[in-house]
Amino acid sequence: MAGILFIISAPSGSGKSTLVSQLRTLVGGLEFSVSYTTRAPRGSEEDGREYHFTTRERFEAMIAGGEFLEWAEVFGNYYGTALSALAHAKDAGKDLLLDIDVQGAMQVMTKLPTAVSIFILPPSPKVLEMRLRNRSEAEKMTAEDVIQSRLAEAEHELKQIAKYRYALVNDVLDQAVAEMRAIVLWERGDGVGVQELAASCRTDAASERLRDALATFHVAL
Ligand code: ADP
Ligand code: 5GP
Repeated sequence: MAGILFIISAPSGSGKSTLVSQLRTLVGGLEFSVSYTTRAPRGSEEDGREYHFTTRERFEAMIAGGEFLEWAEVFGNYYGTALSALAHAKDAGKDLLLDIDVQGAMQVMTKLPTAVSIFILPPSPKVLEMRLRNRSEAEKMTAEDVIQSRLAEAEHELKQIAKYRYALVNDVLDQAVAEMRAIVLWERGDGVGVQELAASCRTDAASERLRDALATFHVAL
């Protein structure tokens, strides 16, 4: 099973972190790539756990040194996946999960076409806005312009959804977790009983659920 690269992208606030942390309690053998970023830590984040927090100068030196599989500028900060994360997961005999934005995902899909890409979307812009507001309240970060820029970015990112192999609508959390688990097991060739669920999440299956969620963002498949 070792060596599959899972790319997960989602508009900020879709519930990706929540989903991924639940997935990791259900499925073993998954390593989570800790990205480098120049943004400041939020809430209870710790250096080396959620991200490797670094400076723009050090990040740019890493770009110049060819140390990244991919990198992108998101909301005014650099984010990147170090090549060493791939080597580390491989040595540990694990699959690697990348939580990266759409720009980074396109770079990885080009460089490593066998990577399994999964897009997570919220059921509607209204729900996304509510989740962003709830989270920012919890983190005591309520700047209205931050919420508005994340909502606008979500619509922009959703336009790339057809380039992903799978898409999950994170409406009912337990269902989305079950779908993500089904995709991982199916892609590992370990998918007894999950084939149908995994297949229903393929973007080319264009399920009614996916089309309905996309329609609320005025995006068609
Ligand atoms: P992301 O990592 O995509 O930015 P988070 O995992 O931080 O998003 O989730 C954003 C907010 O939405 C959090 O407050 C989280 O508890 C909540 N949330 C996530 N998934 C669901 C869901 N299926 N139903 C309701 N709330 C959710
Ligand atoms: P946040 O600041 O909310 O943790 O993340 C903001 C965005 O950056 C999210 O869309 C997240 O997926 C993306 N991101 C996190 N790490 C990386 C990375 O290593 N590369 C790229 N391209 N995007 C990343």
